[in-house]
Amino acid sequence: MLVLVLNAGSSSLKYQLMNPETTEVKATGLCERIGIDGRLIHEAKGHKIKKDLPMPTHKEAIKIALDFLTTGEDKVIESIDEIKAIGHRVVHGGEFFNQSVIIDEDVIEKIESLIPLAPLHNPAHIIGIKICRELMPNTPNIAVFDTAFHQTMPASSYMYAVPYEDYEDHKVRKYGFHGTSHYYVSNEAKKMLAKEDSKVIVCHLGNGSSMCEVRDGKSIDTSMGLSPLEGLVMGTRSGDLDPAVMNYLMEKKNMSSEEMISYLNKKSGLLGVSGISSDLREIIEAAENGNERAKTAIDMKCSRIKKYICSYAGVLEGVDAICFTAGIGENADIIRKKVCNGLEFLGVELDDEKNKIRDDKSREINKTNSKTKIYVIPTNEEFVIAHDTYELVKA
Ligand code: AMP
Repeated sequence: MLVLVLNAGSSSLKYQLMNPETTEVKATGLCERIGIDGRLIHEAKGHKIKKDLPMPTHKEAIKIALDFLTTGEDKVIESIDEIKAIGHRVVHGGEFFNQSVIIDEDVIEKIESLIPLAPLHNPAHIIGIKICRELMPNTPNIAVFDTAFHQTMPASSYMYAVPYEDYEDHKVRKYGFHGTSHYYVSNEAKKMLAKEDSKVIVCHLGNGSSMCEVRDGKSIDTSMGLSPLEGLVMGTRSGDLDPAVMNYLMEKKNMSSEEMISYLNKKSGLLGVSGISSDLREIIEAAENGNERAKTAIDMKCSRIKKYICSYAGVLEGVDAICFTAGIGENADIIRKKVCNGLEFLGVELDDEKNKIRDDKSREINKTNSKTKIYVIPTNEEFVIAHDTYELVKA
């Protein structure tokens, strides 16, 4: 069965055509600058095409993607009828969804009602869903939520210590994100550990970064909150800070609340501290050339990760495996080393040589006698979306 995986952003659309039964990926692509001018990157049969194509709305972008899948020398299917289901990544499922669902009117209404909690993402997802229903009226659409995996968190993790009515009336609580990645990676780790009642900590370290405490396959706590702003130091997001900073700076710099949220989301994090870039590779290079602010940014990033590892290990009363994933987690051996150094008291013993090996497969990088395993597990959110979609429509 072929499943089209879609991730519709405000001005972009990522797609992947895959067979979830065999895990074979037929084609991948990215439509960028939707509503501006339009650019396509499409990869199939080992060929990568980059083309500027007009994409005034998401509708043209989806049509272009479908065209490239079904026509030309690198076509991978004869007709869109071969696409048996469409899996949509949806960032916010609130408290409505603790698993993936087949999309109907009620699901669309619920995703719409969550727009105040995900103002950048949910509107784009709805546009993507509605266009697919229009272009392929007989093909089922499935929603896979970033928040669903974290719905198992206990109240002690998801509640903020603010008056309870604001949880009841306004749904102010921690939701967590990157759920499909945390699910995939912790599940792989569970298989690698082959142990009942496993205690796993996942470090999803990309431009957006978050951590997850997983007990026996269930999310117990995670570092992102009501929005993806909470937690680790990220590419351009501040992560944790004293909320009083906001009011103080808004007064000092005469900023509105929107400007403040944009400042914390887009101008802070590694970019804000280093003043160089949000891209860790550039910051590492600058730090190696002696740039002090770049060194501080890296130290802050690693120290925050370490704090979360220790607090999660404390709540879990131990840890069987620490997993690294996403762009930084999978590739930056320097970061993994800085994070693991000093955690020997938790039974964490990194093997420096194994840590340096580059591979795109899941692997163990701890010393043989390390009590706690250290895994690098390449994440695969598209596979989770395709797999959930397949499970819901196969019957
Ligand atoms: P993602 O959002 O998962 O695509 O991850 C993007 C982040 O991964 C960026 O900060 C990149 O600089 C970082 N990254 C990718 N490859 C490497 C590498 N080899 N060394 C250090 N950072 C890397």
